[in-house]
Amino acid sequence: MRRVSIFGATGSIGQNTLDLIRRDPGAYQVVALTGGRNIAQLARDAKDLRAEIAVTCHAGLLEDLRAALAGSGVEAAAGEAALVEAADRQADWIMSAIVGAAGLAPGFRALRHGTTLALANKESLVAAGPLLMAEAARHAARILPVDSEHSAVFQALVGEDIAAVERIVITASGGALRDWPLERLAAATPEDAGAHPNWDMGQRITIDSASMFNKALELIETREFFGIAPKKITAVMHPQSIVHALVGFRDGALMAHMGSPDMRHAIGYALNWPDRWHLPVERIDLTRIGRLDFHEPDLQRFPALRLAREVMQIRGGAGTVFNAAKEIALDAFIAGRIGFTDMAPLVERTLSALSSEIRLDGAMHSLETVLDLNHVARQRAVALLETTGTT
Ligand code: NDP
Repeated sequence: MRRVSIFGATGSIGQNTLDLIRRDPGAYQVVALTGGRNIAQLARDAKDLRAEIAVTCHAGLLEDLRAALAGSGVEAAAGEAALVEAADRQADWIMSAIVGAAGLAPGFRALRHGTTLALANKESLVAAGPLLMAEAARHAARILPVDSEHSAVFQALVGEDIAAVERIVITASGGALRDWPLERLAAATPEDAGAHPNWDMGQRITIDSASMFNKALELIETREFFGIAPKKITAVMHPQSIVHALVGFRDGALMAHMGSPDMRHAIGYALNWPDRWHLPVERIDLTRIGRLDFHEPDLQRFPALRLAREVMQIRGGAGTVFNAAKEIALDAFIAGRIGFTDMAPLVERTLSALSSEIRLDGAMHSLETVLDLNHVARQRAVALLETTGTT
């Protein structure tokens, strides 16, 4: 039996992962399941799947978790340190599906043990790409991408020489507000931005899809994961979300990966890699789809893409700052403190303020350095938010 742990088990990716695991119960021993505030879900799944331990990141919820697990034999733990310790438990495969930079430390720890890390938490690669990839190499641990675009690129590269890659194109649906006129965007609410036309995902990534911060993170993720020069990586709008990514080779061939918009494709590929097993996902009927559209993204509408280009050039701590400021901007938007179109300017101001004070292009040598910079950038973004006011 394969020993598996799921970090962020109560979220959208976590639940889809558990759905696949439940379909083949004899194949897996669930080691650790982690969550946040959703104690009822965490305890239910931990008991049902006979996990060894359930962990919430919130120390104050330990007693609630203990009570929910009483009599089940499943251990309970809570707090950020407990989350990282859960990654020390021997596992063959770990799903990293915590949302935000909070996913970095547990994933980083898992790599130390040579564990295969299925990486949905794109923020890890944006905030600490070179460090994470170096840690994986040092411990001969494998990182398998779970973001659908990166899984698509990974699959298109099987058996290929990365040196023969001329370009990587990742696709973007345009999110919930793609048909809104530019002048209306400033008035968009979190509910407006949180209704994705194609994908069923967590609230934060859904809003990031509407602002294209999600695609910005993915451009940086592509650069870090595949080690491809920024000029070879582009994003195109593709409203149907059927083609997830394309890889162009030096002989002119362009390999496209297609699939229905269902995260169980990419999760299942990472779970079964290097094999392919039957997955309960809709099969594409090309004649029913009829057409596939592609067009250039409008950079005026999506300033996050322009910022991503700058970050890809600078590397080093720029990704850490970009992600941290984006998280603060998103929190502020969800809380109604700033408008939809105020998010990118806040991220840009944070990047520009910090780059005039510290060198962001230097290498990030340790996890502590990254976490410190993440903290500084979050504080600066909050300060800028307070001094520049709300909409
Ligand atoms: P969700 O918001 O649905 O779930 C997030 C998970 O992380 C939950 O288990 C949540 O616990 C937990 N969590 C929240 N905050 C913390 C914290 N500070 N420390 C530890 N755990 C925490 O997110 P998604 O599943 O949508 O996304 C997860 C990751 O996967 C993100 O990085 C996202 O960008 C990426 N991704 C998601 C896709 C999708 O389709 N959803 C597609 C591609 C990538 P609780 O809910 O109990 O509070």
